[in-house]
Amino acid sequence: MPRPIQALIHAEALSHNLARARAAAPDSRVFAVVKANAYGHGIERAYEALRGADGFALLDLAEAQRVRDLGWRGPILLLEGVFEPRDLELCSRLNLWHTVHCEQQIDWLAMHKTHQPQRVFLKLNSGMNRLGFAPTAFRTAWTRLDALPQVDEISLMTHFSDADGERGIAHQLQRFDELTRDLPGERSLANSAATLRHMGGGLRSDWVRAGIALYGSAPDHPAHDIAHWQLQPTMTLRSKLLALQHLQPGDSIGYGSSFVAEQPLRIGIVACGYADGYPRHAGTGTPVLVDGIRTRTLGRVSMDMLAVDLEPVFAAQHNAQPGAEVTLWGMGPRGTRLAIDEVAHAAGTIGYELMCALAPRVPVASVPASA
Ligand SMILES: *Cc1c(COP(=O)(O)O)cnc(C)c1O
Repeated sequence: MPRPIQALIHAEALSHNLARARAAAPDSRVFAVVKANAYGHGIERAYEALRGADGFALLDLAEAQRVRDLGWRGPILLLEGVFEPRDLELCSRLNLWHTVHCEQQIDWLAMHKTHQPQRVFLKLNSGMNRLGFAPTAFRTAWTRLDALPQVDEISLMTHFSDADGERGIAHQLQRFDELTRDLPGERSLANSAATLRHMGGGLRSDWVRAGIALYGSAPDHPAHDIAHWQLQPTMTLRSKLLALQHLQPGDSIGYGSSFVAEQPLRIGIVACGYADGYPRHAGTGTPVLVDGIRTRTLGRVSMDMLAVDLEPVFAAQHNAQPGAEVTLWGMGPRGTRLAIDEVAHAAGTIGYELMCALAPRVPVASVPASA
């Protein structure tokens, strides 16, 4: 029998979350962001559920090829554009839209020989200071692109640094509006946080770029949780209890003896560790479900195992035994749930990192949408 750990990808939840993103931005078209192998879900596994999107956005040309191989003929946007001149040939061949964020990319376009003019998304650095033209260089870049026979349509884009937080988007939006007011072309501004939190406020974004919300994580956790945004978990990481231990006061658990029992304590040992992608930074108290009963982890996460407190499970009159189902995140038995954001929060990180870090050794199964 294989080791009992398993990840599940829930197609119905992916489709549901896509519908939520659409509902939040009813006047926009939606790019489903599938970079990083669909945030760890697997592009091929997520594709059927997300093909109701208007386009796909990603970074890697090999991932763009995979989306085309799945039969997608609609828009695909490269969020960082091309990395070297010959990538432009693949853009022509696969009909990819690509971001232009620096002068060098315009130089490459100017030298590119093609019969097929390309659609580009010119990116403004409106304050994120990651990629994009500075406000002083943006108009010149637009004029240069506009003069190139290799370019047939210029769209305008920027990225918000604080759509999920208190600072918000107004300062960046103002810069973007000032610089682009009189320019033609479609706009693409909003990530998940901006889509959920700011689209109602008169923000115009012909294309929103929804990533994390599709994967059942609240972009502004812990201010809001997925229940607030009516999102559903799309990835479950589950395993089983391998063993039980009865601790006496003074007994410790695992490496470093970081947890010491103060009273008699029944604990379970779970077949899941950091080599499966479970965060080692998750200390004692990280939420976990045993047979659907919410409890907590105890002590340090090892490579292949971690320990959980079984007292709440026995208190709920459940007889936890080796083989009992353990939900590390996602959907548990009998409709129970544990949001990945809660686990991430306990580990000092965000849901994005946990789903992307699911380890290759964990077998993944798809749960198809029920008919
Ligand atoms: C990753 C990414 C997104 C999606 O962000 P989420 O927070 O996951 O919705 C949107 N735009 C760009 C440029 C990105 O790199």
